[in-house]
Amino acid sequence: MSWLTLPLALRSRLWEHASGEAPRECVGLLGGRGRLVTSLYPLTNVSPHPERAYRAHDLELLRALRAMRAEALELVGIYHSHPHGPPQPSDEDRRLAAWDVPYLIADLRTGTLRAYLLPSGQEIRVDSQV
Ligand SMILES: [Zn+2]
Repeated sequence: MSWLTLPLALRSRLWEHASGEAPRECVGLLGGRGRLVTSLYPLTNVSPHPERAYRAHDLELLRALRAMRAEALELVGIYHSHPHGPPQPSDEDRRLAAWDVPYLIADLRTGTLRAYLLPSGQEIRVDSQV
């Protein structure tokens, strides 16, 4: 996978979640089919250091995955925010990455949204056109 399509309405919801949580990092899942994102699942960041790290609430994560399955969707991405930038993954982001899907990072400082496969760091293009 070298790109992901995130429709504008979902992109707006992602930014709303990110700015609503600032100065804490937000986290959520993206469900869809193939390269197309069709649903966004905001989760609670339960990291003890939410201003510089994220950890999704376990039960919410399971519920979101179950909701996706109920709609025949797959996990197609995981997003979190960097309230103070940069739009690149931190060392901890790479270390804790466990899923083989793009990790999206919303940099609130510059308004930049980027996606990567982790831990490799290969960048994935994020389009808005369906
Ligand atoms: Zn991060």
